[in-house]
Order: sequence, then C-alpha cells, then structure tokens
Amino acid sequence: MQQNHDRRGIGMTSARTRDRLVQRLKEHGIRSHAVLEQIRNVPRHLFVDEALASRAYEDTALPIGLGQTISQPYVVARMTEALLDGFKGEKVLEIGTGCGYQTAVLASLVKKLFTVERLRELQNKAKKRLRDLDIYNVQFKPGDGWEGWSKYGPYDGILVAAAAPELPEKLLEQMALDGRLIIPVGPSGQQQLVMVTRCGHRYEQVSLGAVSFVPLVKGK
Ligand code: SAH
Repeated sequence: MQQNHDRRGIGMTSARTRDRLVQRLKEHGIRSHAVLEQIRNVPRHLFVDEALASRAYEDTALPIGLGQTISQPYVVARMTEALLDGFKGEKVLEIGTGCGYQTAVLASLVKKLFTVERLRELQNKAKKRLRDLDIYNVQFKPGDGWEGWSKYGPYDGILVAAAAPELPEKLLEQMALDGRLIIPVGPSGQQQLVMVTRCGHRYEQVSLGAVSFVPLVKGK
C-alpha cells in the first residue's frame, strides 16, 4: 500500500486528474503560471489520509483531523496569487500550517517561509511531509497566530489560513512598510478574503470576495 501513496504519485491517472484540476482553476480565473505549476506539482494526495487520497485532486476542502480542513485548491491558488502578484520581497509568514499543503505550494515561490500553527500534532506531520518533499526553506513554530512571529519580522507578505473577526493587530505591526497581508475576515457564513497593503504607516484594504474558513482561534 505504501508504494501507492508515496511521492512518486499515484500513476497515470494522477497526471490526468492534476491537469484537470489546473484546467478548472484556470477557468475560475487563476492566471499565474507559477501558481498553477505549483498546484500541478505539489502532490496533494500526500497531505490527506490515505482513505481520501483518491479525492485529493478534486477542487474541494477535505478533513485533515482535529476538526480542521485542507483548503480547497482554488482558494490556495487565489490566496497565493494575490499575495505574490508584483511581489518583490523575500520573507513570508503563514498562519495556520494545518496539513502543510498551502505551505508546500508557497515554499518554492518565496525565499524564506515561516509558519505558525496552534495544533502541534498537525504541524509535526506537516513538517515531516515537507521534509519528505525536500522542501527546506520553511521554519515551523507551534503557537498562537494572533501573536505572529516577531522574531523574524517584519514580513514582506503574511498569509492567514483561518478566519478572524477583525484584523490581528500584531500581524499588522509585523508587516514590512510595503508589505501585504491576505486574510479571511468575518463571522462564519459572512467571511470576506481581505488584502491589506501597507504603505508606510497607512494600511489599505480591499476585498477579494466571499470565502469560508475555520476560525482563527484566540489564545492557546
Ligand atoms: N493551510 C492549511 C489549511 C489550514 S486550516 C492547508 O493548506 O491545509 C486552518 C488552520 O489554522 C488549522 O490547522 C488550525 O488549527 C489553525 N489555526 C486556527 N487558529 C489558529 C491560531 N490562533 N494560531 C495558529 N493556527 C491556528
């Protein structure tokens, strides 16, 4: 069984199903060639339980245990594209490592990636997956994403994979002076994906449309 589930992929069907996923994301408006290539290349089936592996290339969120989900590929692509459009920076902070899929998609597109997750067990598994995929430019920290990770800030980009009722103050502080933050904001059922751009001491905010994320939990 292990052989069917390793990084060599799941055979010919897999190449075709991955192409189909990329095609679907293009039809839904994802333009960035680099992002689409990452969606094609990152083996999403290795980030979910074996029982769900056959559904890994569907454009849908799937459960990853402990009440959390792996984000829908379209949403991962949309957030990554929005974060990196015109991006000239080096350092990116991700909040909500989860199974590490979004982390893996981002890692090859940026120089240094820092990722924070409150559930240590999920993060440890994510860490192992990324090591198995030979991804080495990521630093992991178990902790509360509301606090960010001040030690390595400021960050040129911050991507948050869980929804907050309001913009987290510490994350705004940890943005570089021309940095960008992508974050779902709002209560369940009314969340908007928000892009915040910092221009010195001014923060500009635009909405990128409706989304549905698990909540960014407060505290430990
Ligand atoms: N990016 C992931 C999806 C993660 S789901 C992927 O590609 O699969 C959101 C994650 O945010 C969950 O793993 C959840 O545990 C985590 N999370 C929720 N509140 C958090 C907080 N305050 N700090 C850090 N992580 C948090």
